[in-house]
Amino acid sequence: MVRGIYTNRTLNLRSIKAVGYDMDYTLIHYHEREWEERAYSYIKERLLGRGWPVEDLQFQPDLVMRGLIIDKTLGNVVKANRFGYIKRAFHGTTPLEHGQMREAYTRTLVDLDEPRWLFMNTLFSLSEASMYMQLVDLLDADVIEAKLSYADLYALVRGALDQAHMEGRLKGEIVEAPERFVALDEEMPLTLLDQKESGKKVLLITNSEWAYAAPMLAFAFDPFLPGEMTWRDLFDIAIVGSRKPAFFTARMPTFEVVSEDGMLREHVGLLQPGHVYVGANASLVEASLGLKGEDILYVGDHLFTDVNVSKSVLRWRTALILRELEDELAAIDSFRETQQQLTDMMARKVEMESEYSAYRLALQRAKGNYGPDPARAPDEIQAEMDAHRAKLLALDAEIAPFARASARLHNERWGLMMRTGNDKSHLARQVERYADVYTGRVSNFLHATPYAYLRSHRGSLPHDEV
Ligand SMILES: [Mg+2]
Repeated sequence: MVRGIYTNRTLNLRSIKAVGYDMDYTLIHYHEREWEERAYSYIKERLLGRGWPVEDLQFQPDLVMRGLIIDKTLGNVVKANRFGYIKRAFHGTTPLEHGQMREAYTRTLVDLDEPRWLFMNTLFSLSEASMYMQLVDLLDADVIEAKLSYADLYALVRGALDQAHMEGRLKGEIVEAPERFVALDEEMPLTLLDQKESGKKVLLITNSEWAYAAPMLAFAFDPFLPGEMTWRDLFDIAIVGSRKPAFFTARMPTFEVVSEDGMLREHVGLLQPGHVYVGANASLVEASLGLKGEDILYVGDHLFTDVNVSKSVLRWRTALILRELEDELAAIDSFRETQQQLTDMMARKVEMESEYSAYRLALQRAKGNYGPDPARAPDEIQAEMDAHRAKLLALDAEIAPFARASARLHNERWGLMMRTGNDKSHLARQVERYADVYTGRVSNFLHATPYAYLRSHRGSLPHDEV
């Protein structure tokens, strides 16, 4: 089900007393191509300004996807499984062959605590990562003059970006023409209103500043709220410029927005209902509402900032918004029949492999003249074994195109976001660890109602299929 809510840890929405929301890519979804293309063009402009020969570079939206990892040491982008083993890799924009990958990573596990690795946490990381891959190509071709290491190159791209400035410009353009960038969701305001009317506190906690958040929420929410109601009436407490993740870990000062043009006044004491604040911190939110971590559900799209930190530090309940899940589930669904054929063939292969192993062992015993049944001649066993092997190779040839198609599902280069082969991807593991539930969009909670009891999936263990 493309619009489902998927549960890692059982979550009873009835016992949730407050629901906090991130804004960008959570309450407001952007057409990511449009957004990323603009972001990419800003990076390119900056690099051109530094005299880099990047005029011919074009944004390639499918070059990367969320959940991949940049290896700054080798100039690669990799996809790892849940244990951190690297299962697919690109150097620049070129895929590594199996042998090259083994050579590069045979003794290497991805550990996101090491500075070598950079995890693509959100949809925001895509333009930067695409540019990095293309620049690695240029660096290898000696088109970029400076003798940089791949890590230097990354640092330079990052530094040249001036992310805050770039985001400021992009957001300026979005406020000018929100209809071009925002994918409206009429059900979103009703989802929050249902939660509010059911007695829950509804909170906004966004890093976006007042000057951006206010017009965007007015655009995305006000037309779909009843009567004269505006987004301001929807949120019990609204916090803009929240500086997550520090919001969750430090006791930062609070300011109140006291005029429509965003004038600030320092605020001391508990947060008051109906007011808009800047800064503040999670402990103050808990104290102001008289609530503890497990009473609060926080909903966001940033795997580290929104979900990992709030869960690890404060034990808030967490929901991750993963819009790409909709495409991924649709791709899986369209592949269902082929997948069944592939699964059947794989089962046959497993069976034939075990028969082949039995032949090998019989031959070994016959030659060594030991074991329970040495009666058959080695030549006879060898002949049967050869015939069996030919059948196995034929089956492999039959499987190959199916396996290739399966590996290209969702993204031609990288395959599915949540899987590596049959295993969970590194992204899926992060989601499982930190997100109590995950879903494609906030409005999926509308259909679940504020009273849903979301029960965790029984999951699967290797012995389940016995
Ligand atoms: Mg966000």
